[in-house]
Amino acid sequence: MNKVVLITGASRGIGARIAEIFAKNEFSVVINYNSSQKEAKNIEKKLKEKYNANILIIKADISKEIEVKNMIDQTIRRFGRIDVLVNNAGVAIDKDFQDRTITDFQNTFEVNVYGTFLVSKYVSTHMLKQKKGKIINISSTNGIDTLYPTSIDYDASKSAVISLTKNMALEFAPYINVNAVAPGWVNTDMNKKLPKDFLDLEKENILLKRFAKLEEIAKAVFFLANEKSGYINGEIVRVDGGMLL
Ligand code: NAP
Repeated sequence: MNKVVLITGASRGIGARIAEIFAKNEFSVVINYNSSQKEAKNIEKKLKEKYNANILIIKADISKEIEVKNMIDQTIRRFGRIDVLVNNAGVAIDKDFQDRTITDFQNTFEVNVYGTFLVSKYVSTHMLKQKKGKIINISSTNGIDTLYPTSIDYDASKSAVISLTKNMALEFAPYINVNAVAPGWVNTDMNKKLPKDFLDLEKENILLKRFAKLEEIAKAVFFLANEKSGYINGEIVRVDGGMLL
């Protein structure tokens, strides 16, 4: 029987590439999306055609408890289990510090932090029954030391994801490994509104002089979902090409 992975925010960007690596490796894949239905359906079609994969797409806003609960119920009804959870969905809004509002902070935290908590809560009940599971959270180097006052709420939310990772590793031991991947810069929609000269300068600060390819993040996530990484737990893995601080 195929293993089952649920990836939040898998309609676009890094999440869509993570879905592909699991489909390629014979997992049944649950693709969660919130607003990008067309993109989610395109990913489903591609993975079915390319890998003959079992795919379930589910619309759910991960910041809404009832929608998260329904998503997990639907997954269990279809596949009976969840082996791997990737908490990938995230939002970022760049804005000057003085323009930032409490509502901005709330929106960012609702998805990046509360969403990660909620999905993990409902998935972990099944993993604990199975006495086995892997949770991989997507944090960011912004949650560690590449800080920007224009994304102050995002940076704080990604630090919070690191804290959630360590707390959940403690809570779910010895049955569920909980780790995080902290990417540096990756070319996705999330960064498309940033000025080119700023991005060029950022590239200069990376030892490899380029942003990450989507598959370079996906491969790190897949490694943490694999038995080869079975003794890694509560860890934050930077995938940033080497950043000069
Ligand atoms: P992206 O291209 O903007 O995609 C974001 C994904 O999150 C989309 O699939 C979106 O789905 C989903 N999402 C947003 N709000 C959601 C909600 N309320 N419920 C469910 N899904 C929701 O971003 P990305 O660059 O691939 O980022 C993926 C993860 O990597 C994020 O956690 C991000 O913080 C992290 N990261 C990115 C970078 C980077 O440089 N790009 C660097 C470090 C970390 P819909 O479109 O369907 O709403």
